[in-house]
Amino acid sequence: MKLIFLGPPGAGKGTLAGLVSRGHGIPQISTGDMFREAIKNETALGKKVKEILGRGDLVPDELTVDLVKERLSQADAAKGYILDGFPRTIPQAEELQKFQDLDAVINFAIDDDLVVKRLSGREICKNCGAIYHVTNMPSKTKGVCDKCGGPLYTRPDDSLESITNRLDVYRRQTEPLIDFYRRKELLRDIDSSKSPEDTHRQIEKALASYR
Ligand code: AMP
Repeated sequence: MKLIFLGPPGAGKGTLAGLVSRGHGIPQISTGDMFREAIKNETALGKKVKEILGRGDLVPDELTVDLVKERLSQADAAKGYILDGFPRTIPQAEELQKFQDLDAVINFAIDDDLVVKRLSGREICKNCGAIYHVTNMPSKTKGVCDKCGGPLYTRPDDSLESITNRLDVYRRQTEPLIDFYRRKELLRDIDSSKSPEDTHRQIEKALASYR
């Protein structure tokens, strides 16, 4: 299954991509994670994108598409994958369709006020990337990952200023993809305002016809 998870920041794409990836044995490919890894390792790419991510702006299309092309050429992506956070612009989607046939685009719908609440309490494991929320989904021990014992941190772009910009960027540059994929009859709408379990059920129902 070749899937895209589309939606505003904080809609739950990363959490759900992790669950669906494990359940179906297909890799979760997150461009955001790939950029953060490059920043952590201080690679040439990392140096180029560090400030862009901090502000919550988008990395230029060409850089992002090249990264995804390279990742999708790896063996583990041959049978399927979940693209989490890509494409984010119409030109990215147009490039993707030149070399990939998709099965479905899961569209995560959620209101802005809930996004702000979710992102401003989000914590992520530095070691394994597991996602928590200080009030909605806290780790058992404060600051420590339940899964691997790694330390939890807050993403630098989860500041209120950056969240506001990311939402604005989403509306202007990414939301037009909803119509783009609806016209191709690939879009499956999901209400992601409730629990991860509820969202997961909706996604599995939407994917049932692809198995
Ligand atoms: P995410 O982890 O998906 O929220 O992505 C974090 C940040 O990485 C975004 O705010 C952008 O700066 C950058 N980024 C991730 N995916 C893309 C993409 N497809 N196109 C451009 N920039 C991206």
